Amino acid sequence: MYPEFTEEQKMLRETIKNFAEKEVAPLAYEIDRDERFPKESFKKLGDLGVLGITAPVEYGGAGAGYTEMCIIGEELAVVCCSTAATWGDHTDLCIDNIRRNANEEQKKKYLPPLCDGSKIGGLAMTEPGAGSDVLGSMRLRADRKGDYYILNGTKTFITNGPVGDVFVVYAKTDMGKGPHGVSAFIVEKEFPGFSRGKQFEKMGWRGSPTGELIFEDCKVPAENLMGKENEGARILMSGLNTERTSLAALSLGISRGAYEFSLKYAKERVQFGKPIASFQLIQSKLVDMAMEIELSRLITYKCAAMADKGLVEEMNLMASYAKLYTAGVGMRITTEAVQILGGYGYLKEFPVERMMRDAKLQQIGGGTDEIQRLIIARELLQD
Ligand SMILES: Cc1cc2nc3c(=O)[nH]c(=O)nc-3n(C[C@H](O)[C@H](O)[C@H](O)COP(=O)(O)OP(=O)(O)OC[C@H]3O[C@@H](n4cnc5c(N)ncnc54)[C@H](O)[C@@H]3O)c2cc1C
Repeated sequence: MYPEFTEEQKMLRETIKNFAEKEVAPLAYEIDRDERFPKESFKKLGDLGVLGITAPVEYGGAGAGYTEMCIIGEELAVVCCSTAATWGDHTDLCIDNIRRNANEEQKKKYLPPLCDGSKIGGLAMTEPGAGSDVLGSMRLRADRKGDYYILNGTKTFITNGPVGDVFVVYAKTDMGKGPHGVSAFIVEKEFPGFSRGKQFEKMGWRGSPTGELIFEDCKVPAENLMGKENEGARILMSGLNTERTSLAALSLGISRGAYEFSLKYAKERVQFGKPIASFQLIQSKLVDMAMEIELSRLITYKCAAMADKGLVEEMNLMASYAKLYTAGVGMRITTEAVQILGGYGYLKEFPVERMMRDAKLQQIGGGTDEIQRLIIARELLQD
C-alpha cells in the first residue's frame, strides 16, 4: 500500500479529523461570509500542538515532519480551506522557515509563542510589482544604519497580514545585485515604521485575511537578519518545494471535501424516481473525482516523503507536478460537485460553492499554474 502511514500518523489524522469536524467546520460558513480570522480555532490548534508541527520540541514544537504537516493541512482543508491556509502560512511559511534558517537566539525568541499560538506568523515576499518574478523585481529595500536595517517599501497579498504579529520578510540589501542582493528578516508588528495597509476583499480563502504590509523607515534590529546578508534568495528558494507540497495537501483536502459531500448528496437526491447517483452521467463524474483524488494523494505524499528524507533540493520536478496537478484536480472536482448539487450547489448554504471559490486560489498562490509549467519544462529539457 502506498502511501503508508505509521500508527502515530494515523492517530494524528484521526485527531485532526475530529477536531476539524467539531471546531473548524461549524465556523467555516461564517468566517467565509464575514471575512474574519478564526481566532478561536487557531488558538485551539496551538493547544493541540500542531501549529509548530515541524519545530523541535525544545522550542515548543512537535518535532514531526512534512508528512504530518500534509496530514494536518489535508484534514483541515476537507472542511475549511481558509483555516487550513491560515494554519499553513503560519506553520509552514513562517515557523518552518525560522526552524530551517534562523540562529539559536532567534529560534528561542520567536518559535515558542508562534508554536503555542499566542503569536500569529506570516511570510512576505510578494510586492505590487513583484509576483511571479518575485526575486528579480523586488523593490523593498533594507539599508544598514548602525545596529539596525531601515526598511522601505510595500509587501502585498500577505496571508495573515492583517492579523499577524511576526513576519519573515524579504528585502533588497544590495540594489545592484539583483536576486543576489536579497536578505531575509524577522519583523515584529511593533517595530517602528511598520504598518498594515488594506485588507483585500477576496473571491475565496475569505476566512484567511490577506493584506498589505507597509514599511516606512521601519527599524529592524540587525540581529533580526535571518541567515547572512544577501543570502535571501537561497532561503526563499529553499522553502518553495515544501510550500508546494503543503499546498498540494490543501488541494487534496478541498477535493475530498467536495467529493465526499457530493457523493452523499447524489445518493440521497431523488429525481425521476431514483437517486441521481444511479444515473450514469453522475456516476461518471463521481468516478473521475475519486480517481483524481487517489492520484492527488499519491503525488502529495510522495513529495512529503521526499522532503522527510531530506531530498528537498532534488524535488523541484515532483513538487511542481504535485502543486499543478492537485490544484487542477481541486478546481475540476469542486466545479463538478456544484454541478452534481444542481441549483443547490449554487447556494451559499451548501459548502461546495465555497469550496469552488477556495479551489481557484490553489492555481494562483505559491507559484501560478503557468510558473509550475515553466519549472517542469525547464526540468524536462535540461541535459
Ligand atoms: C489569497 C492570496 C494569498 C497570498 N498569500 C501570500 C503570502 O502569504 N505571501 C506572499 O509573499 N505572497 C502571497 N500571495 C501572492 C501570490 O503568491 C502571487 O499572487 C502569485 O505568486 C502570482 O503573482 P501575481 O499575483 O503578481 O501575478 P503575476 O506574476 O503578475 O502573473 C499574472 C499572470 O501572468 C502569468 N505569468 C507571469 N509570468 C509568466 C511567465 N514567465 N510565463 C507565463 N506566464 C506568466 C501568471 O501565471 C499569471 O497568470 C498570495 C496571493 C493571494 C491571492
